[in-house]
Amino acid sequence: MRIAIVGAGISGLVIAHLLHGQHDITVFESADYAGGHTNTIRVDTAYETHHVDTGFIVFNDRNYPNFERLLNRLGVAWQPSTMSFSVSDGMGDFEYSGASPNGLFANRRHLLTPWFHRMVSDLARFNRAARSLLAAPGTGARPGPSLGEWLERHNFSAPFIERLIVPQVSAVWSADPGQMWSFPARFLAEFFDNHGMLGFSSRPRWRVIRGGSARYVEALTAPFADRIRLRTPVRAIRREDGGVLVWPRGAEPLRYDEVVLATHSDQALALLQDATDSERQVLGAIPYQVNEAVLHSDRRLLPRRRRAWASWNYHWQPDPAPRATVTYHMNRLQSLQAEREFCVTLNRTDAIDPERVIRKITYAHPVYTARGVAAQRRVEEVSGRRRTHFCGAYWGWGFHEDGVRSALRVAERFGAPL
Ligand SMILES: Cc1cc2nc3c(=O)[nH]c(=O)nc-3n(C[C@H](O)[C@H](O)[C@H](O)COP(=O)(O)OP(=O)(O)OC[C@H]3O[C@@H](n4cnc5c(N)ncnc54)[C@H](O)[C@@H]3O)c2cc1C
Repeated sequence: MRIAIVGAGISGLVIAHLLHGQHDITVFESADYAGGHTNTIRVDTAYETHHVDTGFIVFNDRNYPNFERLLNRLGVAWQPSTMSFSVSDGMGDFEYSGASPNGLFANRRHLLTPWFHRMVSDLARFNRAARSLLAAPGTGARPGPSLGEWLERHNFSAPFIERLIVPQVSAVWSADPGQMWSFPARFLAEFFDNHGMLGFSSRPRWRVIRGGSARYVEALTAPFADRIRLRTPVRAIRREDGGVLVWPRGAEPLRYDEVVLATHSDQALALLQDATDSERQVLGAIPYQVNEAVLHSDRRLLPRRRRAWASWNYHWQPDPAPRATVTYHMNRLQSLQAEREFCVTLNRTDAIDPERVIRKITYAHPVYTARGVAAQRRVEEVSGRRRTHFCGAYWGWGFHEDGVRSALRVAERFGAPL
């Protein structure tokens, strides 16, 4: 079969990898590299070369079974990483890291601050309440309480909500802190539970790809690199009797037997000239939000006190910006031995010394709501119909394993399992 695959992120590349041996595939990618959110930047300094990740960074030994299987199959090496989280106001008055008691009380004044102690003790209560929520009978098709309703019901303190849980959720999903009140509480509890975040023991072991995430993309694409058309955005798609028409930019339409849309949900919908009502409803229910990422070496974006530094550092602001504001400390995450601190900061570009900016990149993340979670369950209603298949991390939690899983679902339809 002639199959067009639109998008060369993890989802599109996995489906391409599984299909290329049996089918005549073409992968269309608008960017000038394959990988999508897997985007490793080579940085040359006077003495060293580093390969620093900017999008996909970490995975773990518990929640990424299919991605891990893929890495093993490709023979791609990984190395341990450390996952820790800090919240800081950037001025040193308020900052803590969850990594150790020394980090938790990085600002020693917090030893004597009652609301700080209440914030910490509310965490244990939150973990218990979230476990009870999961143990309660399912809500069936109903979405259950939103995070806002649920937090209010349990009477958590304002510092706990504003300075601990909102930063965590906002950082995990790169989500607007203001939008999270409508986040389905159960969706969040399930994710926290799956990732060992509802307790202090039994945490998964985190990993990064040795030499940067791009190393797995190279291995994955090697057998079909000649089938990938970079800098070739698809402009439109139309389904017809007996085939699918795909319009690459500046070219005549090309006819395929099937098309796999491995872009984001909103991008996929925009491409369909003849979208059905179901496609509009399902894809339209999972919007994406733009986040600006900057790779830089301005250490002022890390907490003031070194003992509060963590792998993920959330920027707390009294009036939160309508975007997640977080700095990933890449030296820590990728064990980089460097004479400078490599950081990736989301949505705080103005605070970064322009002299220390290495690269600016625009990414987009799915925005999860109860409507979106309900739409995910309708995948079979749209995917695999009318010669059109949809994959992408947005069908799950929005992470790498979800991208792989969504590709495996599509691959099964073609009889090509991993
Ligand atoms: C800053 C950041 C950090 C992250 N960290 C992690 C992490 O540590 N661990 C984790 O598991 N996940 C992480 N993620 C989540 C990540 O988004 C997913 O893991 C996954 O990489 C998304 O894959 P995808 O295939 O769904 O989409 P993408 O990787 O975005 O791929 C979609 C591709 O489609 C292309 N495209 C779009 N429209 C067209 C068109 N019209 N024509 C042709 N091509 C098109 C795009 O250029 C892109 O390459 C992170 C994301 C970001 C942004």
